[in-house]
Amino acid sequence: MIQTTNPYNNKVVKTFDELTDQQLERKISNAHKAFQSWRETPIKERAALLKKVAGLMRKRKKELAGLITLEMGKLIGQSEAEIEMCASVYDYYAKNAAAFLKDRPMKVDDGKAFVRLTPTGIILAIEPWNYPFNQVARLAAPNIAAGNVVMLKHASNVPQCGAMIEQLFKEAGAPEGVFTNLYLSGKRIAKLAEDPRITGMSLTGSEAAGSSMAEAAGRNLKKSVLELGGSDAFIVLDDADVNDAVEKAFLGRFGNMGQACTSAKRIIVLSSVADEFLEKFKNRLSNLTIGDPMDPATEIGPMVSEEALKNLEKQVNATVKQGAKVVIGGKRIKREGAFFEFTILTGIKPGMTAYQEELFGPVASFYKVKDEAAAITLANDTGFGLGGAVFSKDKARAVRVASQIDTGMVFINRQLASRPDLPFGGTKRSGYGRELSPLGIEEFVNKKLIFIP
Ligand code: NAP
Repeated sequence: MIQTTNPYNNKVVKTFDELTDQQLERKISNAHKAFQSWRETPIKERAALLKKVAGLMRKRKKELAGLITLEMGKLIGQSEAEIEMCASVYDYYAKNAAAFLKDRPMKVDDGKAFVRLTPTGIILAIEPWNYPFNQVARLAAPNIAAGNVVMLKHASNVPQCGAMIEQLFKEAGAPEGVFTNLYLSGKRIAKLAEDPRITGMSLTGSEAAGSSMAEAAGRNLKKSVLELGGSDAFIVLDDADVNDAVEKAFLGRFGNMGQACTSAKRIIVLSSVADEFLEKFKNRLSNLTIGDPMDPATEIGPMVSEEALKNLEKQVNATVKQGAKVVIGGKRIKREGAFFEFTILTGIKPGMTAYQEELFGPVASFYKVKDEAAAITLANDTGFGLGGAVFSKDKARAVRVASQIDTGMVFINRQLASRPDLPFGGTKRSGYGRELSPLGIEEFVNKKLIFIP
């Protein structure tokens, strides 16, 4: 069902019809037509469009942030921050794409050669609800700058955000078909993969959806990018500034109500500072204001949906039944809406639910380990490989630890964050490919060699 449901009170706000096959064909045909001229449009004009989109986002920040909060429950201040971040992604590619797309000379002895990055066609973006504007920007900005056109199949619970992004492109002057929002269910993606006008597919979301999309893309010999789940380790070494690490663990784990792929899901602390850390971390979670996510004073808002809450509750209950302990929180908050207490679990052992699975909500798994080597072993004992963080006053030591963690990204003395100028992506079951930075613009272009003897 494609609909807006307010998770603050579980009320259905608006329902939308899926596209018929005919309507979908018309949109693909328009996008394909748009590609023929967009690919020839000078990079200066393509960049100017992105700059206008960024400007409109900033101008209408409050309205757009309100839409995010309405559809998926994010605290309003964090929704505004998402819009700012998103505008900075459009600005980043507006400013830098021309340089990133410059011909790359190759050294040859018998003539001249260079690699030119050329667009390929329609890129299909399948995106999740957790950062409904920013996830889209990470794919749309570099590709539209590169001369591709983008079709968005957004998560079914954020239809108004999807439609708003299309509207912003229109207002910014994008020719019809350069950015298209599609109301479609995930089931119809496999069929879309067969369409030769669609030349690349990118999915941000769960492993199940990712492997299903990648299978369809592979069957049709199409390039894909996958940004999937994570169970990031947040490692605190014995020489870290504990107060600073506690605050950043709080932000890293509980921002977006814990519903981020790169949330600090596993807090791993060396034994000599573990008790101090845990006490302070627990205190940081106490006495927070629960309420309406539209109210800037609220600190604990709803999770995205009743279904997501029930799933998290099941994982926490199973882990406790298996022998883990609740330090604080652990259950749903008795009030209307999808509210769950900010929670810390300890005593988690291999084989337990919280050890194996991604907990996509406000629950931190706390581990006390004897030394650096044990922290690294534990950090790597997961199928995921998205991000991580290492805290130490000795930066060289922190980098040494970071280099032994099998993930796509590690931040030192800071919780992991997505930013336009740094590549974002994972390894292992967290997917493949990169978004953002110069790397993000390279995923769906043809790196065409031209050799002149
Ligand atoms: P999800 O159910 O996989 O949904 C993500 C998107 O995939 C939605 O648009 C969804 O559409 C679509 N989809 C679902 N099944 C599909 C299928 N079989 N074929 C094609 N598309 C399909 O994910 P979620 O539960 O909303 O999001 C949470 C997950 O995303 C977590 O695991 C999180 O860690 C991960 N995530 C990763 C990143 C990253 O950058 N690595 C960022 C954010 C989130 P419908 O809504 O219509 O089902």
